[in-house]
Amino acid sequence: MRLSGRVALVTGGSRGIGRAICEALADAGAAVAINYQGSERAAREVAREIAEAGGVADIFQADVSQREEVQRMKKQVLARFGRVDLLVNNAGITRDRTFVRMDEEAWAAVLSVNLNGVFYCTKAFLDGMLERRYGRIVHISSIVGQTGNYGQANYAAAKAALLGLTKTLAKELATKGITVNAVAPGFIETEMVAAVPEETRGKIVKQIPMGRLGTAQEVAKGVVFLLSDDASYITGQTLNVNGGMYV
Ligand code: NAD
Repeated sequence: MRLSGRVALVTGGSRGIGRAICEALADAGAAVAINYQGSERAAREVAREIAEAGGVADIFQADVSQREEVQRMKKQVLARFGRVDLLVNNAGITRDRTFVRMDEEAWAAVLSVNLNGVFYCTKAFLDGMLERRYGRIVHISSIVGQTGNYGQANYAAAKAALLGLTKTLAKELATKGITVNAVAPGFIETEMVAAVPEETRGKIVKQIPMGRLGTAQEVAKGVVFLLSDDASYITGQTLNVNGGMYV
């Protein structure tokens, strides 16, 4: 299996795209640390399902926007698995409204999870990767970070920032055995998109050349590729998984 012997940590792994990434990683042979914020039951369910399929997984609570919580999680993950080779910064939230109506709370909430959370998690696990001179990091950005989107100034800013972070980290870590890439999903069938009104979703689908939303599994396949040794010479890139919506 492509990832056997590797240890992965996926933030926000209890549902949606994160869950599909956890499952795909376990399928490829990695031991998976599943981070969750509040939904312990859902996280346990993912871990149980992986174990039943013969994989290895455990769950770790932390709000990624809180540095102390990430540090606590780091200790727990290292105590359980010894190291993290593959880090997937997937946790994200939206607080949509037009910029005119956007208050500081909505701005700060999105930036603190979608951007600061990535800073804290990458900081926490990069030391070990540097020591071992091996690591793979994937940031889950978004098509919205590439195109902008009405009502999503905070989210678009955070997701675009991840692309700049990806490129910079890739350059800084290129000689250290560590690759850093981003995956930019288009519109994917998850609870995040289920929150979009039906009429708006219909309009979105019309703009997708493939004529449908993507699945979390289709995103996960791209993530697993970037985390595998098949992608050993790929760093600083953005893999678009968007049905042709942005090319
Ligand atoms: P989702 O809402 O189903 O899942 C997000 C996950 O992040 C949840 O498990 C949630 O508990 C977790 N999370 C949120 N805040 C957290 C925090 N502070 N600490 C730890 N975990 C936290 O959404 P999804 O669609 O699966 O999104 C996953 C990622 O993909 C997000 O970064 C999102 O921005 C991105 N994305 C989604 C789409 C889409 O169409 N669904 C498109 C582009 C990008």
